[in-house]
Amino acid sequence: MERRSFLKMSAAMGCAATVAGCNSSSSDVDVVPPTPPVTEGETMNWSSCLVNCGSNCPVRVYSKDGVITRIESQFTTEDTYGNHDVRACLRGRSLRKRVYAPERLKYPMKRVGPRGSGQFERISWDEALNTVAERLQGIIDQYGNESIFDMTGTGTFGHFKSLAMVHRLLNAMGGSLKRYGVYSYAQLFEASRYTYGTPFVGLQGSTYSEMQHSDLVLFVGHNPSELRMSGSGQGYDFLNQKQTNNFKTIIIDPRYTDTAVGKEDQWIAIRPGTDAALFEALAYEWITQGKVDQAFLNKYCVGYDEKTLPEGVDYGESYKSYILDNATIGELTPGDNAKTPAWAAGITGIPEHTIIELARELAAAKAPFIKLGLTLNRHAAGENNMRAGYMLPILLGQLGLPGTNNGGDSSGGHCVVPRIAELENPVKKEISFFTYLQAVEDGKNMTVLADGVRGVELDENGDGKLGTDIKAIVNWFSNSMINQHSDVRKSEEVIKDESLCEFILTVDNIMTPSAKFSDIILPDTTWLEDEELVNQNHVPGDTGTVIQMSSGIEPLFESRHSYDICTEIAKRMGCEQAFTEGKTMQQWLNEMYAMSQAANPGLPDKEVMLKQGIYRKYLPHGSQIAMKGFRDDPEANRLYTPSGKIEIYSSRLAHKAKTWELREGDVISALPKYTPTWDGYEDSETREKYPLQLTCYHTKGRVHSSYHNIPWLREVVQDAVWMNPIDAQARNLKTGDLVHVFNDRGTLEVEVKVTPRIMIGVTALGQGAWSKFEDGIDKGGNVNTITSQRPTPLSKGNPQHTNRVEIRRA
Ligand code: SF4
Repeated sequence: MERRSFLKMSAAMGCAATVAGCNSSSSDVDVVPPTPPVTEGETMNWSSCLVNCGSNCPVRVYSKDGVITRIESQFTTEDTYGNHDVRACLRGRSLRKRVYAPERLKYPMKRVGPRGSGQFERISWDEALNTVAERLQGIIDQYGNESIFDMTGTGTFGHFKSLAMVHRLLNAMGGSLKRYGVYSYAQLFEASRYTYGTPFVGLQGSTYSEMQHSDLVLFVGHNPSELRMSGSGQGYDFLNQKQTNNFKTIIIDPRYTDTAVGKEDQWIAIRPGTDAALFEALAYEWITQGKVDQAFLNKYCVGYDEKTLPEGVDYGESYKSYILDNATIGELTPGDNAKTPAWAAGITGIPEHTIIELARELAAAKAPFIKLGLTLNRHAAGENNMRAGYMLPILLGQLGLPGTNNGGDSSGGHCVVPRIAELENPVKKEISFFTYLQAVEDGKNMTVLADGVRGVELDENGDGKLGTDIKAIVNWFSNSMINQHSDVRKSEEVIKDESLCEFILTVDNIMTPSAKFSDIILPDTTWLEDEELVNQNHVPGDTGTVIQMSSGIEPLFESRHSYDICTEIAKRMGCEQAFTEGKTMQQWLNEMYAMSQAANPGLPDKEVMLKQGIYRKYLPHGSQIAMKGFRDDPEANRLYTPSGKIEIYSSRLAHKAKTWELREGDVISALPKYTPTWDGYEDSETREKYPLQLTCYHTKGRVHSSYHNIPWLREVVQDAVWMNPIDAQARNLKTGDLVHVFNDRGTLEVEVKVTPRIMIGVTALGQGAWSKFEDGIDKGGNVNTITSQRPTPLSKGNPQHTNRVEIRRA
């Protein structure tokens, strides 16, 4: 795609705010917002949108006679970048509809029909809490705490009311089966752990402010403008950096996303799951053209070539040898299996000359800012996708320097607000979250080497069994039990079976598709009925915020705050003191406020914040360059890898490759390697029957599955499967036609959107729609009706972007 004019870009930005220049120094924003236009009888309270989009935008909630009348965004008298509004997106602005939704849970309920039938009966709080305590205690007595699975999710992303609070309750009760590998990052965490030393380095990328020092920004599968749309989000930071600085932007994605649309200089369409092949072809070009930073590789890395391979490992197992398919030291002549641009072109769908040109541009850039999106990690070979992507800045020696990034996500500007302490979980056994259903069916026989079980006793082969099944699920703020897990119908069948999981508790605001499978449901208050202090959340962009929430309405119906619910359960299970420490909710909130003030010296007193709502600071810790400390002094700042260096070749993975029991086709490798996968582009078994690849993405109309039940958002953001005109023509389809998207796992029904904004042979559907089955067809259009439960090789994570399907008129 051709470079677009700056004017066109400005037009595409639409309502973007005035830009004062991102080079301005960070400024404390102790700005008191203007007096809001409160009409007679109205009150205004600050609150926040606490879903898991990565931001926690402030909202102003107007109410009259105890009823919310309207929601407005935050605004200030001045709105210049670095001192700008943190405006809520369309989702946050629809919060009133969420509070008053017909699906709102009103009373405690118990199941009266078969599990999953959705038949419930209203009961008293006493009966509900007594039942919860009795059932959990009974299961603990019979099977142990390790048989309780903590399914707490991110439907509420607070600091006091949070995952931590539910973990605290369960830990006070004696613990629960531990879990690792969240659905956003499971494969990324492992890629980062084995390359950079800890799972979190992959989330500690450079702040977007570093783009001001960059001449080339490369996004691979990164799309903040549709996910993180807040006024302080990454999408807004990127727009402002782009507008102010003269860097080139290249976006690689199968879809022409809203992050691109006129802001990019080049869009390169790529087949889903083939990114590692592209990265290897770039490596080939740099190695054969002498563009790699040999001095950097020698000093900071393990395994690029013979100079840094671990002792006892042959040159033929080095990265350079692998890319060139040549095991002779010093020889650059490529073998038959060299990872050439021509080879990668056939896999990725990117023309050979485009790959060569991309390699040239990246190598010529003075400071390339390379950012890998999380979509790369949610593939069948997600771990190697990410590791292969990390190789780009590593090979060029472009990390730890101004204007560069290590490929990781940015934690942005961050004002610290503590969470309630979780306490220690006495249970040490741990499974990958994505394998929870396997643990319901036959957890006893899950093992370390086959299923990635952790925290169990090991035998002489380094193996061990989990030795327990999941017998109770505590499903708090979560829709992951069914809707957000893969292969919905299969999940339903397992969960329905009461001889397997014997008790399911849901605590939530809304009757979600997962909640319908509960035995007891307890109604929690919504954020707009709560007081809380929150910060900007985990992916905020460069502006840190603290928001003091309060409420002008009483808890609706019989809903109760999670702290109350936890306390009542703890009381019945004999651990009230351990959970509450004798403190009321208000005492906890005041204590946490004081801790936040200590961490943010500019944070005003609570009384001031209750009126002011938001405290902001642009780049509270200054502009951050990923891995700068390591670059500056690799001895003093050794990484947490065994070698203390960046591990291109991982001896730990070499060991796992030899010892782990993998399914046919799965690969764990010491080097990052492109791997053809099941249901991938090269899968000849499914290709004939299901010729289209289907990937999923975050839509503007939901955050995961939150907000799906808001009719306004369903009207504004069309749920439709994207299809290229050439594929549509072959199937005689046009935009708006109702189609069936299907594979061996199921069929979903949705409209089709015919658009050249997606590459040929690839389709895409926004994730998070709520399943609604009629005659075996999911008319709710949930992509998880057709995704697979097969875990990825290393992290045992979710491969929900790897799918092959066919699409026909419904
Ligand atoms: S969904 Fe995210 S960006 Fe939108 S208002 Fe809520 S927190 Fe902000």
